[in-house]
Parts: sequence; structure tokens; C-alpha cells
Amino acid sequence: MASQCGGGYLGGMLNVQGQDRAIAQLQKSMRAQRLGHTWLFAGPMGVGKFKLAMELARTVMCDRPVMRANDGAVSLLPGDFPLRLPCGECDSCRAIEAGSHPDLHIITRDLIRYHDKGGKSKGTTLSIDVIRGEITGDPAQNKEAKIAKRAFRGRGKFFIIDEAELMEPPAQNALLKTLEEPPAESYLILVTPSPQELLSTIRSRAQLASFNVLPDAVVMQELAGRGMSQEDAALLARLARGSLGRAVRWAEDIRTIDDKNAKAAARKAKSGAEADEGEEADTKFTPGGILSWTRELCLQLDQLVAGRSAASDVAGAIAKFAGEYAGLQLIRDRLTSADQAKRDGIAWMMTIAAEWFADRLRHGLGTPHATVLPGITGALDYGLVPQLIASARSAEAQIDMNANDKILLAATTAKWEELLRVPS
Ligand SMILES: [Zn+2]
Repeated sequence: MASQCGGGYLGGMLNVQGQDRAIAQLQKSMRAQRLGHTWLFAGPMGVGKFKLAMELARTVMCDRPVMRANDGAVSLLPGDFPLRLPCGECDSCRAIEAGSHPDLHIITRDLIRYHDKGGKSKGTTLSIDVIRGEITGDPAQNKEAKIAKRAFRGRGKFFIIDEAELMEPPAQNALLKTLEEPPAESYLILVTPSPQELLSTIRSRAQLASFNVLPDAVVMQELAGRGMSQEDAALLARLARGSLGRAVRWAEDIRTIDDKNAKAAARKAKSGAEADEGEEADTKFTPGGILSWTRELCLQLDQLVAGRSAASDVAGAIAKFAGEYAGLQLIRDRLTSADQAKRDGIAWMMTIAAEWFADRLRHGLGTPHATVLPGITGALDYGLVPQLIASARSAEAQIDMNANDKILLAATTAKWEELLRVPS
């Protein structure tokens, strides 16, 4: 059935970077014809879990899969291992590409509002209504179980649940009944960064594929491919901490900022000096987004160390950047809460501050980070660094515990200033 020539559709699974362990596991399962019906794809955000789930579906459902020798493509498989890749040309491959494959079901929290007839859901959880409507059915409401129906195209059915940790316990329990007797030709993939939030009974019935953070080089290569300069790509890769998805999102944010600023400038030019009352007019975005925020925050910290700026300056900069971070988050995801987005922004700024303090210590020890954060003029007593880092980390942890963010910011930056002012 499989043809023996060709390179495979755009590489299939081979397009997922840095996850050879998971790819090898799936390829071996397919080769042995023992592909599990329930999978848990677990690992950090933005490292390719969802993408590999899609590639697995594409491969299994392809009408004419291509076989090619591994030949070093997947480091953990022998050179002559026959990789199975989708053809990219059959009706199934085309339907997936067009987003219209009848046997591929992608369950995301965007579906919540469709199933939430009361309109009360804030889109923060996957409720039992979503799981029943999309997968298990509900005899009480005469809803059929999609997972029990025959595959339209006869090559299995895939159900991919993104952010599976958002499933409420009743939703997980509804799913559990299906997992106990999985329909022969159905595959369920739970994609999550937090598997511990799933019921242990669900976890124990699923095969685990673990995903790891990506090396900076992989992230940098992708960003460079999108036209980013080497210097910016290196900084963004460092900030993204092994998450390609995060790095790409931030890179796209930078483009969004350029668009918004250009439109705002055009509106302003059109309306003369009149005050702009547009809904987006109140957020002024710094060109360069997180790259600029990071560089400016680092320079502010350097000024604080040198005694040339005050705690309130640093707090003001963090609040401003967190506001911009939240503004971008809201443009991207209308289901996000503005308050939570701002807290996330402050948490990122605290992470960056902690990294900057750590950089100063590395600098002092003569073992600098490969991508040094800017601002190394002020003389810093290295003995203080652990306390400064602990203070930033503590603020990062507290921001989610409903602390008043303004007070927390003021107190944290004041603590840094106080530590730096103590004569050594
Ligand atoms: Zn195909």
C-alpha cells in the first residue's frame, strides 16, 4: 500500500524540531502496528506537542503513506529504520490541509461558547458539554457519540484535545468511560503542559509521550528564517526559554505592534491634532515589543545599581511594559482576562529582572551567558545577587496570588533599591 519513493509530504513529523524522542516513539509504534489509542502528549508550552499530534493524524489517515529510510533524520532511530510519512497529495492529506477532514476532530476552548447555550462560560475550562458534544455523546440529550461512529474515510478517526488540563473533573470522568473501552479505530490525543492536572485514572490509561524544552539554537534558526536579525533572534530565544511557540508569538506581536503603530500614526495624521478616541488609542506600543522592553528594563536596572535612577522609575517601566504585554494578549485572545494578562506581564518582567541579576553574577565570575543582557556599567556587590534574585522570584510567585500588583511592584523595587544602597 505504501509507495517506496518520494521524500514524504513536507517532511511530515520531521518538521517538528527537537523532539526526536517522541517522534521515534510514534514511528516505532506505527512500525510495530501497535499504535496506542489514547495518548498523553506532555511537555512545556510551545515545543511542538500539538503540531506532532496533527502530524500523527496526517500520517495514519494518509491514503498513500510514503516510506523512506531514516538516514539520520531522527537521531534515536537506526539509519535504515523505515519512517512513515504522509504523501501530501491524497484526498485525506488535502482535506487535513484544508481543515475539512471529516475524521479529524480538534477540541479547543474556542468550542466552549458553541456548546455553552447559557452564554455564561468565560472560556477558561473545557466543560462536560464540550466533551459530550464533541466526543462521547449524551444519551439523555439524544446526542450521538462521535467517537463511536465509523470513520468516514476508513482510516481511523482522531480526536485531539488541546490544553486538555482545562477539562473540568466531570468532563474528564465522561471521557474516562470512553477510554475504558476505546472504539477500535479511534485515536485520542490529550495535549497538555500540565498532565498532573488530569485525573490519575486518565493518565494511567494513556500512553505518555514526553516533550522537552528546545535548545536555543533551534528557536534562533526558526526566528532567523522569519527574517529576524541574529542579535534579536538570540535575545528572543533566550527570553522564550526553550519554547518555540512563545518565541514565534512574541515575534508576531512585534509585527502587530508595527501595524498598530502605523495605523495610529495614519489616523493621527488624518484627524490632525484631535484627540483619538478609538478603542485602541489608549495603548501606545513600544516598537520592538518584548525585545525593547527587555533592553529598557535591563538599562533601568543598571541605572538603579549605579544610583542614577530610583525604585519608582523601575516600577514605572515594569508597569508600562506589563500594560503593553496585556494589550497584545487581549488582541490575540479575546477570552483572556485583562487583569490576568497584566499579571502575566509583570511576572515576565520579574523573570527578566532575575535573569539580569544572574547575568551580573556570571559576569563577575567570568562565565558570561552566551547571550548577555545589556547594561553592565554599575558596580554591583555580587554578594547581594542571591537576595535580589530571590526578591524578583518571590514577586513573580506572588503576583498570581491576588496580591495588589501596584503595591507588590513598589515594594519589590524598593527592596532592590534598599539592598543596593546598603554600604558594603
Ligand atoms: Zn496522503
